[in-house]
Amino acid sequence: MPTDNQKRDESLFIDGAWVEAISGARLDVLNPADGTLAGTVADAGVEEAQRALEAAHRAQPQWARVPPRARSEILLRCFEGLRAQAEDLARLITIENGKSLRDARAEVTYAAEFFRWFAEEAVRIGGEMSPSPSGNNRILVQHQPIGVALLITPWNFPAAMATRKLAPALAAGCSAVLKPARETPLTALAIVRIMQAAGVPAGTVNVLTSSRTSAVVGAMMADSRLRKLSFTGSTQVGRTLLAQAAPQVLKCSMELGGNAPFIVFEDADLPAAVEGAMIAKMRNGGQACTAANRFLVHESVEARFSQMLVKRMGQLRLGNGLEEDTDCGPLINARAAGEVAELVDDAVARGARIALGGQRPEGCFYAPTVLRVVPPDARILDNEIFGPVAPIMTFRTEEEAITLANATEYGLVSYLYSSDLARGLRVSAQLEAGMVALNRGLVSDPAAPFGGMKQSGLGREGASCGLHEYLEMKYIATQWS
Ligand code: NAD
Repeated sequence: MPTDNQKRDESLFIDGAWVEAISGARLDVLNPADGTLAGTVADAGVEEAQRALEAAHRAQPQWARVPPRARSEILLRCFEGLRAQAEDLARLITIENGKSLRDARAEVTYAAEFFRWFAEEAVRIGGEMSPSPSGNNRILVQHQPIGVALLITPWNFPAAMATRKLAPALAAGCSAVLKPARETPLTALAIVRIMQAAGVPAGTVNVLTSSRTSAVVGAMMADSRLRKLSFTGSTQVGRTLLAQAAPQVLKCSMELGGNAPFIVFEDADLPAAVEGAMIAKMRNGGQACTAANRFLVHESVEARFSQMLVKRMGQLRLGNGLEEDTDCGPLINARAAGEVAELVDDAVARGARIALGGQRPEGCFYAPTVLRVVPPDARILDNEIFGPVAPIMTFRTEEEAITLANATEYGLVSYLYSSDLARGLRVSAQLEAGMVALNRGLVSDPAAPFGGMKQSGLGREGASCGLHEYLEMKYIATQWS
């Protein structure tokens, strides 16, 4: 791979070949830490999208016939390839996304694990056979690949969101067209280069980078050769895509936005809760769908919790993610930093108190910030902050904590800290979220079902159910006596 300062110029990957856009157009990829040019990628149009879909459609039946053990071995080589290039990939993530190297290295480890996990799952696609209650026939159920999958990923985890889709799609016997985010396409292209070297056959994975996302994606979704959409991104774009999926009745997996509550009960281990809060809030500088967005703290411990959180947040070093001692890099672009500033200003105008931070330095940065006594009408409580800001509010009773936690259209993840396990499980059962972190600041795990309730999404990624998102069930009614 090129060194940190070398500009990368990448092409589209269609049918096993690296090709330019027909128009010759290219897109700049910027380093958000300093605005320098990290590289350029080809700017695909509708015609290239049709070629990618055609290639995936041709490759899919052949890939589905590759024995599961052989598919598994190719995926294992992808895992090993990512591990072998882990440091280069981490640096590339930091260059185009801005996150600290520590976060980028953790992301590469997480991303690689999806290949290992689904390599193991590829050989365990089972089926069922059962007698019908009448005793007259047998019910045989098989799982077969859905077909061609369109995979659309966001910029906040450019490696892990790609492998969380590519690995199960390939394990299931599907082929894919990957459309990474405009802001961070270089990491996806580097991963696909590793997959090509690992022996993924031509056409099985194709990558389109484009500034004309709506037209390019729209053309593929209107084509009956596409059978599956797996999207990770904002709820707003997810709704548009679900409507676009309706005419072809496309199978959809949607990993959408979040507004995670982080509940701290009066019986919580406070130092542990603060450490968990730092992970839940500050991974990727707060730019995660799972980021703690609202801190709900029992009124009797709020002052102590806030003081400890302010101390830890105040120790974070803001800077260029490539510097080893940086804890918190820039946000993805200046607009994102402006949006965070607007949410903080709105909360302060409505009466919230700034306990730490509240400043927006030059460029794409925003300072780690803690807000106390945030009033219920503050916009920051209803919006994904996507930045290093922790708004704190208080509650008195367990019921009130649950009501506040569930008062959102989102339902991705909820965090809760209590040293009473019975309470922890009782509250977990009532939280409207696809995932609950009980005395933990992190839920992500390739072996666990990741996904949301309500408007945070449809379906799950990871675990064995992540594979079934790419499999179609077929029931064969059989009779042999
Ligand atoms: P986004 O919705 O703006 O973009 C996501 C992807 O969709 C990008 O590849 C983008 O180019 C593409 N896209 C945008 N408009 C489109 C359109 N009209 N048609 C087709 N494709 C389109 O999201 P983002 O800003 O890249 O990412 C941040 C969002 O992603 C946040 O809301 C975050 O919560 C969410 N997210 C969710 C998860 C999860 O697993 N639930 C994980 C990471 C991020």
